[in-house]
Amino acid sequence: MKKHNFYAGPSILNEDVIKESIKAVENFAGTGLSILEVSHRSKEFVAVVDEAVALFKELLDIPETHEVIFMGGGASLQFYMGALNFLKTKAAYLDTGTWANKAIKEAKRVGEVIVVGSSKDDTYTYIPEYIVPEDVDYFHYTSNNTIYGTEIHHDPDVKVPLICDMSSDIFSRPVDVSKYDLIYGGAQKNLAPAGVTFAIVRKDAVEKVDRDLPTMLNYQTHISKGSMFNTPPVFPIYAALMTLRWYKELGGVEAIRKVNEEKANILYDAIDSSKIFRGTARKQDRSLMNICFVMKDEYKEKEADFLAYATERGMIGIKGHRSVGGFRASTYNALPTDSVRALVETMQKFEKNL
Ligand SMILES: *Cc1c(COP(=O)(O)O)cnc(C)c1O
Repeated sequence: MKKHNFYAGPSILNEDVIKESIKAVENFAGTGLSILEVSHRSKEFVAVVDEAVALFKELLDIPETHEVIFMGGGASLQFYMGALNFLKTKAAYLDTGTWANKAIKEAKRVGEVIVVGSSKDDTYTYIPEYIVPEDVDYFHYTSNNTIYGTEIHHDPDVKVPLICDMSSDIFSRPVDVSKYDLIYGGAQKNLAPAGVTFAIVRKDAVEKVDRDLPTMLNYQTHISKGSMFNTPPVFPIYAALMTLRWYKELGGVEAIRKVNEEKANILYDAIDSSKIFRGTARKQDRSLMNICFVMKDEYKEKEADFLAYATERGMIGIKGHRSVGGFRASTYNALPTDSVRALVETMQKFEKNL
């Protein structure tokens, strides 16, 4: 039976990306060696990093002022590293959920944090209003809240530089990178297998840092060495390159966004017109990447039945995060529209047979 992969992360990769990665595991770039056993300084792998960085820049229209780097440590390390590099005295943060909170917690180790808005009062089901003071070093936000299924669909308009955790919606829409000092994320949601972290860094902003930073936590270390200061996650970077080539073939982020909107509309329409399901996030803040829904109160006890029913039919990874309950279908870039249709059909059949 065909499996439909709705996991929130690590998550679905395009089929051809996996096939190409398997080929490189067997024989990488005609070297007769596996990608798993070659030097990161071999000319063949240096070419991989160079092409991945170039495609990153092309696809997101990244200006000359910024550099793209690959590291380990996950988005979770970036919570601290970002603050360490950019927080001089005071920074503004938007509290939109679990990941935003973790970023706030780490930034507080470095300097003063002002939380300019929070939707905690309603279990993070919406994006709160906020005003960013002009005397902060930056405004940090999480563009897509993977757990609660809310998303900020546009680059905010504020008077200070932006820093954003784009772990779960990178390459899902165009971004005005010039507004940002830093964009970072773990690659395992929309780009690659787990193990590599990407960052888009404004070069003149990191040059101004005067803290005595640990070498590995200094963006300049990684920029100046082209992500080769230490051994980078070789295989995940290779798979990321395969994904980036595929994104280019699809026509870039504008084309990808259209498909994402179509997928999300199909599923949200099914949820909204259902007698038994309801969405959890406020409509205008709904995520195009993680679609959260629960059963209406009068059907609540059927949730376990539906989960079993859907799993039997090949729907994998739709159990909601424990802090929201119900269901979460992650509809990342690599998820085919057919998988969304299959899920909708499963939901409708279950409802009909109730
Ligand atoms: C998954 C996720 C993280 C955590 O990423 P790690 O790479 O596991 O540290 C952080 N932020 C967001 C928005 C995520 O979706």
